[in-house]
Amino acid sequence: MRAREGPFLGVDMKTIAHWIGGREITEPEARTGPVSNPATGEQTAQVLLASDALVDRAVRVAAQAAISWAESSLSQRSRVLFALRELVNAHLDDLAGVICDEHGKVLSDARGEVQRGLEVIEYACGVPTLVKGDYSDQVSTDVDLFSYRQPLGVVAGITPFNFPAMVPMWMFPLAIATGNTFILKPSERDPSAAILLARLAQEAGLPDGVLNVVQGDATAVEALLDHPGVAAISFVGSTAVARHIHQRATAAGKRVQALGGAKNHAVVLPDADPVLAASHLVASAFGSAGERCMAVSVAVLVGSDGDAVLDQVGEQARAVRVGPGRAPDSEMGPVITSGARQRIEDLITSGVEQGAHALVDGRGLVVPGYEGGFFVGPTVLDRVTAAMDVYRQEVFGPVLAVVRARDVDEAIALINASPYGNGTALFTSSGEAARRFHRGVRVGMIGINVPIPVPLAYYSFGGWKDSLFGDRHIYGPEGVSFYTRAKAVTVRWPVRDEASEASLAFPTAR
Ligand code: NAD
Repeated sequence: MRAREGPFLGVDMKTIAHWIGGREITEPEARTGPVSNPATGEQTAQVLLASDALVDRAVRVAAQAAISWAESSLSQRSRVLFALRELVNAHLDDLAGVICDEHGKVLSDARGEVQRGLEVIEYACGVPTLVKGDYSDQVSTDVDLFSYRQPLGVVAGITPFNFPAMVPMWMFPLAIATGNTFILKPSERDPSAAILLARLAQEAGLPDGVLNVVQGDATAVEALLDHPGVAAISFVGSTAVARHIHQRATAAGKRVQALGGAKNHAVVLPDADPVLAASHLVASAFGSAGERCMAVSVAVLVGSDGDAVLDQVGEQARAVRVGPGRAPDSEMGPVITSGARQRIEDLITSGVEQGAHALVDGRGLVVPGYEGGFFVGPTVLDRVTAAMDVYRQEVFGPVLAVVRARDVDEAIALINASPYGNGTALFTSSGEAARRFHRGVRVGMIGINVPIPVPLAYYSFGGWKDSLFGDRHIYGPEGVSFYTRAKAVTVRWPVRDEASEASLAFPTAR
């Protein structure tokens, strides 16, 4: 991808700019933030951090574009999305490379992320059927009633570092398909994928100003939350920020969906296949270095057979190949920043100090040739209790906490005591236990022998409790509903000269 070159700290440093009205925009005197390659620890670019004035400019451009885009035909929008689908597919490896270099995840994982985002573009291609309304003939004598949905106007999306392409694609394809214009504020840690997506959308024929990218930090977010020209906010990130976003943006009269953090438990019953359960626990705890909102971070082993599963987990965790994301044999890359590594290692240490047993300890891992990289090795902490910090806090790193439960009911009670409710999984061969589990847990997304149950694009994604603030899940049918509002039209076409029976009484059907 293209980027502006410019002097920074005395050396030439790539600058990642905003994308507004179909072109790169810079601001003189702008604040900047560092973008690093987590595998080497080196800063590779600087990203501009928007001011209030820059956000205002983006909203004005998006508002102007919204006038004609809302009038565009469904076929026109659908054609752009089909073209975008082809382009994202053709550039899948470019996107994966950009993600790998700024986020650190391994290439195969980055490809998977783009693929899951593509599914939402594919769903949005069907917008003509997604926004079909209802029609009722003759609801009263000579009166018909129909409903349809219209766009909101300018909507904004604020996204986290851990899925720099997929989470934006959870939002903007449906927002623009339904006739809105969109301002994306990606994470300042890995901002390049958003610019590449915006360029591809332009190449696909999306009119300038319909999809804009504002780079920035909390300043840009606050400006979007307060701006009267923004009708709705989609947010994905940590719980503390999600709660704040929801409160502030709803107070400003906006529609808000704010998805927060997670603490996902996977329960293994004695009747589960221990080999299958252990391999899925390891894959879901350590894939993407545990930096997934649907990662399993707590294994709940039920009954005395738990030790056999734990032995397998320990063996497989030690065998995970940790290295730079671009190395073909790496299975797990670094975490996002040195600060994240420190926080994760501190939480492991606190767990050990509070009585947990480090069956596998990933602290202090050094990858030869990548000594400056932000690596933490897979870590398995046994004998964790619900009182420990490592259990109560979202670690968001490659750490699997292991707790024990007597039976499925105790496991359900443990999950329901957590303030989070994003995802959970059960490993079992009992249909009766599975049914009791999925009906009993207060969690939004549940897997039965499936550890990362991210719903496909034609369902919707969302957690319960502190994992989602607002009442609409993201993408799928709830996404269509979030980005549109309904109108109901009651129509009478009176026959000329026919007596009209107006009455001051409240109208009822005849
Ligand atoms: P984060 O909350 O730090 O940042 C998310 C976004 O909010 C970024 O764009 C950031 O610039 C902005 N932001 C950060 N602090 C802010 C503040 N004080 N005021 C306003 N805006 C602010 O999250 P992150 O570290 O980028 O991502 C990891 C978190 O996201 C984890 O908690 C993870 O569970 C969560 N997540 C949740 C889901 C989900 O679907 N529920 C999906 C992915 C990630």
